[in-house]
Amino acid sequence: MKLIAAVNDSAAESPRYVARGPAQLRRIAKRYDLSPQLAETVRLLSLVLPFRVSQYVLDELIDWSRVPDDPMYQLVFPQDGMLSPEHVRALAALAPHGRLAGPGLAELVRRIRSELNPHPAEQLSSNVPLDARGDPIPGLQHKYDETVLYFPSHGQTCHSYCSYCFRWAQFVGDPELRFATNTPDDLVAYLQRHPRVSDVLVTGGDPMIMSTARLREHVEPLLRVDSLRTIRFGTRALAYWPSRFVGDRDADDLLRLLERVVSGGRTAAVMAHVSHPVELEGDLVRTAIERIRSTGALLFTQAPLMRRVNDDAATWREMWTTQLSLGMTPYYLFVARDTGAQDYFKVPLRRAAQIYRDGLSGMSGLGRTVRGPVMSATPGKVAVDGPAVLNGDRVLSLRLLQARDPSLVGRPFWAYDNAAAAWVDELVPHPSSDPELVRAVWGGPALTSR
Ligand SMILES: *Cc1c(COP(=O)(O)O)cnc(C)c1O
Repeated sequence: MKLIAAVNDSAAESPRYVARGPAQLRRIAKRYDLSPQLAETVRLLSLVLPFRVSQYVLDELIDWSRVPDDPMYQLVFPQDGMLSPEHVRALAALAPHGRLAGPGLAELVRRIRSELNPHPAEQLSSNVPLDARGDPIPGLQHKYDETVLYFPSHGQTCHSYCSYCFRWAQFVGDPELRFATNTPDDLVAYLQRHPRVSDVLVTGGDPMIMSTARLREHVEPLLRVDSLRTIRFGTRALAYWPSRFVGDRDADDLLRLLERVVSGGRTAAVMAHVSHPVELEGDLVRTAIERIRSTGALLFTQAPLMRRVNDDAATWREMWTTQLSLGMTPYYLFVARDTGAQDYFKVPLRRAAQIYRDGLSGMSGLGRTVRGPVMSATPGKVAVDGPAVLNGDRVLSLRLLQARDPSLVGRPFWAYDNAAAAWVDELVPHPSSDPELVRAVWGGPALTSR
């Protein structure tokens, strides 16, 4: 609590969070000296892809002397190559620079978005739990026995958008993606009927975009459920707006809310999305981490592996080592999901496995808690353990870390090695694999030839 008191005084000078988006593009370009060509790319692509950036990212995380190659610039600004040249040409024709958009632009935008697989892994239609009357409960997903995902409706946005976000469609107003809920009442009732659920993961968007008062309305009722042991908060705020924990008007209240969870005998876990070492460098983020730790909450880290952002082993080793020294536990290294601008960022699975292994080498065993590379696919979380030789065939060894069907977890299975495959559906199962696993992962007995 001493730490909380000490930083409280700075609240008055703390800048207020303001979102920057396509409407401020001209100002951003001028202030940071973005070339007209790069600005035009952002303008056109942000008609389709969500674009939002916090002042903190602009001032503290992007190295403007390295734009466009700077990894943080790649991460938050739409880039040439994220849409096909045909799509960009069509957009430029209907939305010419400095002139009114032509008719048909909205339809074109809708069509391009629909071609970007906006709903990967059937995340909307599957996993929606039912209430006592058998009706679907909005704002919840329950895929793995122990953990329910909770989407509070006021947390369905972020302080900045990652251009690789797998929930991107939700930020461009896709009505199908409005699966959020205003109150935790249904969740509480569901947890009471399902005492095997030990964890709720509050997610979005980013739950830390909510005011603390609002977040408290979603979290405190959960503490009435005895069987609930852990409340996780998936967030990008440490990287995109660390003031959320230091200096924002209700930052201290947020820390008290975390304390409240912990003092109620539960685990509060901040699942921090950290994509690049620079995100952990500033004084502000370091103070934010210390303050979160001072509440007794645990910090775990996770991020996807992305070409042009973090696709080398040294970057991950540095991230994991730094995280460990800051009291954060490395948790997941994800594979870029098959949606949006995936082609732009994707790293083939074999290479991803190599980066993961090389990243761990030379690192304390305490940081080798991280698992990866992991695909969050329809049947579950598929880890790529790496290349092997099986009956004379080159294969990739795979394993489910989590599965809808818990009996499938942890049993190795194999696919023919393939230097280009970047998602499990681009792999062909090897016939030595258990047919049950093959059916679950690939759907049907696809055990033919390669
Ligand atoms: C990853 C994930 C979880 C959490 O799984 P853990 O292995 O417990 O971290 C829960 N639900 C869904 C849908 C997930 O993708």
